[in-house]
This record gives sequence, structure tokens and C-alpha cells, in this order.
Amino acid sequence: MAGMLLIKYSEIGVKGKNRYVFEDMLVRNIKSALKPLDHPCDVRKADGRVYISYEEEDYEEALEALSKVFGIAWICPVTQIRPVGIEELKEQVVQFVRDTYFSKGEPEPFSFKVNCRRAEKSYPLNSMEVNMLAGEAVLEAFPQLTVDVHHPDVMLNIEIRPKDINLYSVSIEGLNGMPVGSSGKAMLLLSGGIDSPVAGYLISKRGVSLDAVYFHAPPYTSERAKQKVVDLAKIISAYTGPVKLHIVNFTEIQMKIYEVCPHDELTIIMRRYMMKIAQELAEKEGCLGLVTGESIGQVASQTMQSMLVTNEVCHLPVYRPLCAFDKLDIVAISEKIGAYETSILPYEDCCTIFVAKHPVTKPKLDRILRSERKLEGVMKELYQKAMETVEVIEI
Ligand code: ATP
Ligand code: MG
Repeated sequence: MAGMLLIKYSEIGVKGKNRYVFEDMLVRNIKSALKPLDHPCDVRKADGRVYISYEEEDYEEALEALSKVFGIAWICPVTQIRPVGIEELKEQVVQFVRDTYFSKGEPEPFSFKVNCRRAEKSYPLNSMEVNMLAGEAVLEAFPQLTVDVHHPDVMLNIEIRPKDINLYSVSIEGLNGMPVGSSGKAMLLLSGGIDSPVAGYLISKRGVSLDAVYFHAPPYTSERAKQKVVDLAKIISAYTGPVKLHIVNFTEIQMKIYEVCPHDELTIIMRRYMMKIAQELAEKEGCLGLVTGESIGQVASQTMQSMLVTNEVCHLPVYRPLCAFDKLDIVAISEKIGAYETSILPYEDCCTIFVAKHPVTKPKLDRILRSERKLEGVMKELYQKAMETVEVIEI
């Protein structure tokens, strides 16, 4: 048997002339989210809504897939009937209530309200009249139910449109946000930690598609640490769409910094090189900005002074969606999106291996620049080598 879902979308409804672009993007993303289902679905847009016809046995799986699509405000299982007069409409509404709430036996008594909207103004009755008549019919058929117009347990929606009438009462909240692809692309600095996957998820919620870059330092960081990042990229790609993951071999750059620069400045100088490389890759890939999982004050390299010095190497905007988040809030999102279990696997991170016992928390740019000058001769070659040996994994 076939079922139908009515998709209401969030902000994209108000984007004026661009609306079609946004809608098409959403339809495309919905189609690709539903592709793995056992049976093909029909996805079409009509009157500021998207309708999905699906095979009933795929219901749970379809909901699960749609719960990861940005831009969806509500998912409503809907019964669509052809336009009918009020007598038949009353029968259909009663049948809808029976199918929805009484198919598995007698439910706990509940209150309801009928909420009619007429997009088709030529319908012979107005909304108030439909509300009253349909409400009466339901009460007559199910005297154990009550009407509550202020706080009903169930809202029975009747939408009268030119070519059909929608009946629905269940609304499942979607992720909201904007359809991925509608805002351009950014390069996410993806480590194996908790924060950066969450940062990627959040920026993607604003319609941004993602590429990613991971800096690894073999043999100091293992294949398992790299695999963990690949796994995290897979987890976020369920929300963000395909991710092109760049793996940069950072070992020699890191070793050279370790050898030449004061150890308390290591992290900052290393991070400046990461940003430089990420920026170059971003520009190659047509990305409009960088994204990191930094949060103000979380660690020494994330004080405002440190970020000022790190940021100095970037001319692309650096988006830090977590900058004002507490760790607990970040963890909550990480759990919600299914990344947490993977993020906490205890594999070494290239940042922590060479980290000083007492890193500077308030670095001064002139001092950092002076230290970096000592790298000038050798670094060019190492930098180039790192760029030439980038491994790309399409996820
Ligand atoms: P995360 O949980 O994302 O690893 P963190 O709290 O460990 O963050 P840092 O290690 O200071 O913080 O890193 C800050 C940000 O820099 C990360 O969120 C990430 O965006 C980027 N970053 C750090 N290490 C790497 C790496 N090895 N590869 C790619 N990006 C990295
Ligand atoms: Mg980290």
C-alpha cells in the first residue's frame, strides 16, 4: 500500500524569487536521502509544499532519512482525497480518525480540534462552518472524544485546495535550517575530536555544503586515528551530503617547527600552518570560507589572543559556529547526531603529540612572526611537499 507524506519547509518559504532554487535543492536532497529505501518514492513540489509518495512498509526508514534533511520544518503523514462536498467530507474525516486512532483498538480518550484552511475559496462553506460540521460528525461517531479548542491533544487539519483535500493530524518536527547546497561551500578542519564534526553539522544547517581537511602525522598518529576521521566524515555526510576529505601529511612540518621554534609556541605556529594549508585547499576547491570547531577559552590555543594570532594567516572568513558554546552543549549535539561514540575513541591526535606542558595562552603576533622567520628557508619545500601529497577520499 502507498502512503503519502506532506513536507512543510522552514525559512525557504520566504525567500522571494530565489524560492524555486531553494525548493529544487530541497527536493533534490530529499530524493537522495530516500534513495536507499527498498521501494522508489515519488517526490514532487506543489503549492509551497513537497509531497512524497512512498510504500507503507518503508515508513519508519523514510522518517529516519527525512529526519536528517536540513530545510524540513514538519513531516506530516497525510491522507489526500479528491475535492468533495461537505457530506462526503464529513464521512472522510470520520474515516480518517478511525484509521489513524482506532485501527489498533480503543485508544485513551483524547480531545481534538478541527482546523480547516481553504486555499480554494470557492468551496461552498467557509472554514468555520467546516470546523463545526466536521467536529460534530467526529463527536457523533466517537462520543468518547471531546473538543478542546485551546489545548487539543489532536489537531485535525483539513486543507481544502483546488484539486484535492489534505487530511492530517500528526506533525513530526524536522531539523529546520536550509537545504544543503543553497549557501555555497566551505572547508571544514575536521579532527578526530568532539567539536569539529559538530561545527560542520551546524554550518551545514545553514545550507552550506562541505569539503574537509584532516592533518595527520604518521607514524605519530596511527591509521586508526585516520580511519576515525573518515568515519566521522561519513557520519556528518548523512546530514551535509557528500564530503571530499583531504588528508594532509603534516609530520615533517610539525617536526621542523618542533626542532626550530620555542616549545611553548608550538601549538600556535602549528595551527597557523594548518590554517594556511586549509585555506589553499579551500581556494582550490572553490570554498568560500573555513570552518573550525574552536570555542572561546576551551584550551590554550582557543583564547581570543590565540585566535587573533592564528586568524592572521587567513584572508578567507573563518566560521567558528561553536565559539560561544559550552562543552556540555557541544556534547549534547554530538550525541544527537550520532558522532559522540566515534569522537571519544581514544586515538592520538597530531596536536597533542608535540604539545608543550605550558603553551602560551596569550601569544604576541610579533614574537610568533619572529619565531616563524627561523623556518623560512626550509618550510617552503616542506609545505609544497605536503600540498603535493594530499590524499583525497570522496565520502
Ligand atoms: P576537536 O574536538 O574538533 O578536535 P579540540 O577541542 O580538540 O577540537 P583543538 O585541537 O584545539 O580543539 O582544535 C581546534 C580546531 O582545529 C578543531 O575543532 C578543528 O577544527 C581544527 N583541528 C585541530 N586538529 C586538527 C587536525 N588534526 N586536522 C584537522 N583539523 C584540526
Ligand atoms: Mg582536537
